[in-house]
Formats: sequence, C-alpha cells, structure tokens
Amino acid sequence: MKMVAAFNTSVRGKLWFLIVLNSGIALMLTGTSLFCYESLQQRGSAMRELSTRARIVAESSTAALSFGDKNAAAETLSMLRADSHVIDATIYDRNDRPFARYRSALASSGGPEFGPHSDGAYIENGAVLVFQPIRLKDQRIGTVFLKSTMDEVYFRLRQYVGIVCLVLVVPLGIALLSGSRIQKLMVDPITELSGAARRVAVEKNYSVRAVKHSEDEIGTLIDSFNHMLSQIEINELARKAAEENLRESEERYALAARGAKDGLWDWKLSSDRIYFSPRWNQMLGCPVSETWSDCEEWFSLIHPSDHHRVKSEIAAHLAGTTAEFVSEYRMRHVNGTFIWMLTRGIAVRNQNGRAIRMAGSQTDITEGKVADPLTGLPNRLYFIDRLENSIETAHQMGILFAVLFLDLDRFKLINDSLGHAAGDELLVEIAMLLRSTVRSSDPIAVAGLPVIARLGGDEFAVLLPGIRHQLDAEAVAGRIVSQIAAPFHVNGRQVFASVSIGISLSTSGNTPEDLLRNADTAMYHAKTSGKARFAVFDEKMRERAIARLETETDLRKAIDGQQLVLCYQPQVCLRDQRIIGYETLIRWNHPERGLLVPGEFIPLAEETDLIVALGRWVLKEACRQMAEWHRSVVCDPPLTVSVNVSFKQLTETDLVEEVRRVLAETGLHPGSLKLEMTESAIMANAENAVAMLQQLKDMGVGLEIDDFGTGYSSLSYLNKLPFDTLKIDRSFVMELASAESAEIVKTIVELARSMNMNAIAEGVETADQLQALIALGCRYAQGFYFSKPLGSEETYALMLEREDLKRAFAYLQTSSLNSGYRASPYPLVSTEAAIQS
Ligand code: C2E
Ligand code: CA
Ligand code: CA
Repeated sequence: MKMVAAFNTSVRGKLWFLIVLNSGIALMLTGTSLFCYESLQQRGSAMRELSTRARIVAESSTAALSFGDKNAAAETLSMLRADSHVIDATIYDRNDRPFARYRSALASSGGPEFGPHSDGAYIENGAVLVFQPIRLKDQRIGTVFLKSTMDEVYFRLRQYVGIVCLVLVVPLGIALLSGSRIQKLMVDPITELSGAARRVAVEKNYSVRAVKHSEDEIGTLIDSFNHMLSQIEINELARKAAEENLRESEERYALAARGAKDGLWDWKLSSDRIYFSPRWNQMLGCPVSETWSDCEEWFSLIHPSDHHRVKSEIAAHLAGTTAEFVSEYRMRHVNGTFIWMLTRGIAVRNQNGRAIRMAGSQTDITEGKVADPLTGLPNRLYFIDRLENSIETAHQMGILFAVLFLDLDRFKLINDSLGHAAGDELLVEIAMLLRSTVRSSDPIAVAGLPVIARLGGDEFAVLLPGIRHQLDAEAVAGRIVSQIAAPFHVNGRQVFASVSIGISLSTSGNTPEDLLRNADTAMYHAKTSGKARFAVFDEKMRERAIARLETETDLRKAIDGQQLVLCYQPQVCLRDQRIIGYETLIRWNHPERGLLVPGEFIPLAEETDLIVALGRWVLKEACRQMAEWHRSVVCDPPLTVSVNVSFKQLTETDLVEEVRRVLAETGLHPGSLKLEMTESAIMANAENAVAMLQQLKDMGVGLEIDDFGTGYSSLSYLNKLPFDTLKIDRSFVMELASAESAEIVKTIVELARSMNMNAIAEGVETADQLQALIALGCRYAQGFYFSKPLGSEETYALMLEREDLKRAFAYLQTSSLNSGYRASPYPLVSTEAAIQS
C-alpha cells in the first residue's frame, strides 16, 4: 500500500523513494555480505583457536591418561581456567568414559550434553565444540572435548557491525546527496514547467514562460513548451482582438438597431427561412420575440396594393439590377390597421454572384408618411389610403361619400407680402379651424370619422366618409367658406383669407385619383367663378377642364408655331390730338377656333407658366416691330410701345436682363418702351419690386400702372415705386356719367399730377366720355372712340395717314378763326373713317 502511495505522490517523492530504496538495498546487501563473511571468519577462527587449545590439552594429557593419573589430567584441564570462554572441558578414556573434567562457573550443571561425535570442531547451540583425539604412538587412547561460548565471536561481530555501519554511513550520505542533486536536476525543470503550465491553465496567462536551466532534453522540452506558449499567445491575442472587434461591432449594431428602433430580418434563400428580430415582431403588434418563418408569411402582411411592387423590387435586387433593396410599403398590424414601413436590405452573394442570403432592417415611417409636419394634419398619402378604404366600403355597403378639395385664394400674395413664416402661421390656423369646423359639423358620419388632410402648399382635402345627400357635403363646404372668411390674426396682424372648394361625390369616380381630380376640377370652377365659394363637380366641368387642357397644349404649340399676333391700340394726347404711342395687345390666330382674344387664353397661360414664354415673345416682337416702324416713319417725339407684363414675368424671370437684351437686339430706344403692370402683379412681387423697377427706370424704360383704381395697394407704397403713368381703369371711364366715378377719375388725375405722373384713361368709347375727361384735366386717352386695336399692317397704314392728317389738321387749325378745341377728328376705327372726318 505504502509503495503504491509512494508512486502516487510527486515525482520528487518517487525519486526520493527510489534513491533511498536503491541505496538502502545496496548498502544492506553490502553490509549483510560483509557481516556474513565476517561471521564465518570469526566462527572459523573460534573453532581453530579452540581446536589448537584442544590439541595442546590432548598432548599434555597423553601421559596422564596412559598412566591413569586423573589428578594430572585434572591439572592439565585446570589450565583452561585462564580462558574464560571455555566453559566445559572433558577428557574421555579410550572407552569414552569421562576421565577428567573441568567446568567453569558459567557451564550448566549435569553431564556432558553431547552424544558421541566424530573428531573435529562444531558450532552447536551457540557454542563451539571440539573433539580432539589423544593419541599415543598412533594409537588412540582417549578424546579431549572442549566447549567454549560464542561470546567472543559475538563481541567481535558486534564491533564489526558497528564499524561497518559507520563505514556505510558515508556512501549512504553520498548516495543521498547525489540523489538529491539528481532529483533537483530532474525535478526542478519539471516543477518549473508544471508551475508555468498551471499558471497558464488557471490564470489563462499566456505570457508566462518557463525558465530554462540546461541545454539537455529538458532544456529542449522547455524551449518547445515556451515556443508553444508564444504561438498560443499570438493566436490568443488575435482571437481576443477578433472577438473584441466582433463584440464591439455587434454591440454597435445592437445599439444602432435599438436606437433606430428598427426591426431586423435575415432571409436564408436556400431554405427560404427568414428570421425576424423581436423588434420586427413588436412593430407589427406581435409578441416581442425572435421568430423564424417562411417569406410568404412576410408577404402576406404586405398591403395588396403594394404586394406586387415589393416583390418585383426584391426580385430586381436579387437579380443584381439594384445595389440595395429599398422599399416603402404598408404592412398589416395585428390590430388590423396598416402601417408604413421602410425596408432596406442587401443580398449576400456566392462566388458565382448568386444571392444566397439577404438581410436588412425595417423602420416604421407611418408618422412621417401620414402627418404633415407643419399642421400635424394627415398628409396626401394617408388621405389617399383612407379614400381607398372609403371606396371599398362604399362599394360593399352602397354608401355615398364626398371629397372636398380646398384651395386658399391669393395665398401666394399673403405669403409674398407678409413672409413665409406668416404664411405658415396662417396655414396652421386654417388647419385648426378646419378641424373644429368639420368635427363639430352635423353627425353626418355613418361610415367613420371625417378625414382632414393637407395635400401640400395651400391645398387641403376633407373626406366625408358617409353622407346621406349631396346637400350634407355642401353644408360642410358652405360652413368652411364662411368660417375662413372671418379675419385671422397672423404675426400680430389681421389677415383676410378665403377658400375655394370643389366637391366630388363618390358616384363620380372609382379611384382616389378620379375623386381627387374631380374635386380639383370643381375647385377650379369655384375659383374662376369668383373665389370664396364651393362648387360640386359635374361632367360639364370635366369637359371644360379637358378643353382647357387642350388649349394649353395648343398654346404651347402656338408660341413657337407663329400663331400669335400682336395688335396695336393707339394712345392719344388730348392736348394736341397726336398719337403718342400704341399698346400691344395679343391675339391668337387659332387654326381651328379662329382669332382668340386674350381673355380666352391669357388666364390659362398665367396658371401654367406658359405666360413666361408668351410674354418673352410679346416683348421681343413689340420692340422689333416698333424699331422697324421707327426706321420708316419719323415722329417727334418717337412713338412708344406699351407691353403688358404679367406677375409671373416679374417673379420668375430676370425681367431687367431680358429687357436689356431685347432692346439691344432690336435696337429700340429704351425711352420708346413702356411696361404695363397691374397693382396686384406689383404687390405679389413687393419684396424685390422696388429694386427691379428702379433698374428698369434707370435704363430709361417707361413704367405704367395698369387698371389703376381696381386694386387695394397702398398709395404710400406705390409712391415709392418709380412709375410714371397711371392707367385709369376702363370701369371708371365707362361710368363717367355718374358723379362718383367722375370724382374717382378726378382724384386719380390729381393724384398723378401730385406724384409727378401722367394719367391715361382707358376704354374711351364716346365723345361725352372724352369731353368729361378733358374737363377733368386728363391729358391722355385710349379707347375704341379713337381706334380699336389694329393689326400691324393697319397700324403702319394709320401711321402714314396720320402723317398726312397731321398736315391737314395743322392747315385747318391755322386757317380757322376758332383756334380753340375742335371736335375730335376721330374715331379712327377705320382708316377710311379717319380720312372722311
Ligand atoms: P388691358 O391691358 O386693360 O387692355 C385693354 C383691353 O381693353 C384690351 O382688351 C382692349 O381691346 C380693350 N379696350 C380698349 N379700348 C376699349 C374700349 O373703348 N372699350 C372696350 N370695351 N374695351 C376696350 P384685350 O385686347 O381683350 O385685352 C384684355 C387684357 O388682356 C388686357 O387688358 C391685358 O390685361 C391682357 N393682355 C392683352 N395682351 C397681353 C399681352 O401681350 N400680355 C399680357 N400679359 N397680357 C395681355
Ligand atoms: Ca394694358
Ligand atoms: Ca387696362
């Protein structure tokens, strides 16, 4: 057991055990051999000594025995007394009868304890026995028997053992010392190695190295061990770095994903299994846990209208046509509603470029999709979504519903004159008002609550999901129109707004687009019939809208197809009856519809921006024409040409640059060009009007305010602008018979004079009107009384005739006794009439 235990202990213990055992056995064997040898030597010498003594006694006692002298024999024996070890000595006669005997005090009493022995020495029972024959002349006459103790032998042996032991201690010490040295040599490196190994194992510290003490096999082992550790350490550092990187990137991704509130998905295309993160599920109202399912389950949640699109977008990415899969679509929430998701994904491809996996994120963008950030109202997308819903239920349940399309009147004017912040404020106010007006309206909803949305800009829409009759929708629209007519307080000011509303009923269309477009058409109708009102869509409106669309297409062609022509209406100085210039008025020579007047296409052109191209053409053509006339008809001062400028030309083009270019190109003197613009066009560009007009003025171009008296512009503002002529609107001239209009005209004339401007009366049709204007001090006039707008050839002819007429007129004036004012030689409706008069 102990042996086994020894082998189970440490190498050091085992080595010790083996060293001690080996040297012990070696020493023991040596000691035992020496002892045995010595013991044999000692016995032999004891027997030899006693035999010698017995021979001496035998020779000494030969005489006594042959003479039978027992005393002499006893005396011989008594000599043995000197040797204390001899304890028994007996002389036997020839018949082996005891003849003489000596016994020491140590001898046991009684007779001799031995039987007959052959001659010789023996060791028996711890004593040495010797039988020595006594001979006389070769004849045996008796035997001497001696017996001595072994005490002497034992004493010597003990001494010997002592010495041997002493002598053996030295090799034992040497053995143990060298053993311990060997043990140290062998065990220390192993201990060192195992210590290092243990530290590596326990502390996972791979920077530990075992210390090498020798160049032997153990040294090589330590080298290999250290090398192995270095390798492990390098691998471990690399592994740790990789792990750290992975952990960091996972952490970063997890943080980003959590922060972004995104759901994640990972689609293994080979097995068609798709992983959804807890957040992904949560977004759709499912339990917050990871799930695996197939992609059909995903597709089944996508809104039917988006289904096809999303699938083809995924297919396009998998096929490699798109760099990334990005799609916005609706998904069904557990509660039955649809929410908008933005899903992004990227495919992982194998060496052959085949997509094997696709993963990405999903973001809920419903809020951004459905809410307009400014007003907080739902936006167009949401509105269309609800509209689709209403169409579905309406078809299933036979419910009537209505869409109201609202557009603020003159919102641009408010925005431009009060600033965009004020415009935004007004929109917010209107949104609030719409909410309260529509919500508080009669309980007309039979299929859900009304939806109010901002479609963009100053456009709003209301969905009345269930009404009994068209009148219900009209009532809501009427209420909105009257509520919006009340003043708003924006930016500390009172602002008046109005709205035009178009109503389309669910019976007028089958898609959200149809219904919105119809409501828009009706709104346009309301707007063109005078604003601040509503209109219900009917088919005729659509026809008109289509006609308008056609006109727009035609007009586009007309601008570069030479279908546009300019007419010229003379402007007359009332003092000397001279034509001072012409106002250009556009006509459209339509291939099918004949000659169209501006009222039939200018408003459309202004709505669609075509007015910019049209205006550019008019300016250039008028200048070219007048420059040409200047070259052939001499007139002093030179005739002027007035060109009408629309508000969009003021905002959307660099009018100054264009005028400069056209004048340069045509060679017309700037002083011969006048630009006419209405007050509202100026007010719509109030911000940069001053600078722009001043630049034109500086160029020498004349500036006229058209239709003066019909707008609401502030006089103090107009006063700051460099205008030189006010055109008194035709409506006042027409009513000149009324005292009120006469007063207005008078005021305008005086105003013009006080501001150092000219006043020109428009639309003079009768001699009475002319008389009245002259009486009021108006110096210039234009109207059918003088001439209708004339084509360019007629205008040219008139110019030439007027030259003749002027000469005739001068002659009349000088020859007449009455040199005062004479009846007008006009009207110049036709050249013939002029000549006749
Ligand atoms: P406006 O600038 O006030 O032009 C005067 C309009 O009054 C012209 O109508 C002219 O034919 C008409 N008129 C002139 N004298 C009389 C009269 O004694 N009695 C009546 N009843 N009418 C008279 P027109 O040519 O139909 O032009 C209508 C409007 O179209 C113009 O009003 C002007 O605002 C616009 N317009 C015409 N040509 C252009 C153009 O080249 N560019 C732009 N932007 N607008 C134009
Ligand atoms: Ca005009
Ligand atoms: Ca006018």
